Amino acid sequence: MNTELEELYQQVILDHSRRPRNFGNLPEGVQVRGDNPSCGDEIELSVKFGPAGEVEDLKFTGQGCAISQASASLMTMKLKGKPRTEAEAMLNAFHDLVTTDVAEPPKSLGDLRLMAGVRKFPQRVKCAMLAWRAFEQSLQGNGKPVTTETDEM
Ligand code: ZN
Repeated sequence: MNTELEELYQQVILDHSRRPRNFGNLPEGVQVRGDNPSCGDEIELSVKFGPAGEVEDLKFTGQGCAISQASASLMTMKLKGKPRTEAEAMLNAFHDLVTTDVAEPPKSLGDLRLMAGVRKFPQRVKCAMLAWRAFEQSLQGNGKPVTTETDEM
């Protein structure tokens, strides 16, 4: 990363971790609790699916490091209102972004592309993926808790 990108990355992460978007609980919908014991991050994600399976609304609460909070905040912004197939594609694209050397990350990821830097740090990948693991679980339609400790990443 060049310096300019690095600065932008810092700004976005700090901004979202300090002022997380879509922070809160949805009374209806699937609730998934996720934790990342290696860092101490916790998240509770609520996802409300629409009649066609689309992501009608989602919110999260939780605590943890700046990366886990910023990733969750950015994720909720990106997934809100998305058809299910698009949300699934985004989940896969984000996973690829933080685990493999993607030359051209899809533009659809927007600011999430700034997270590519965590790829060099396996512990941070878990932080960045925590919210997405919770979302993946919500797609299964059940509220089983998720933990990064059993993930194959
Ligand atoms: Zn963390």
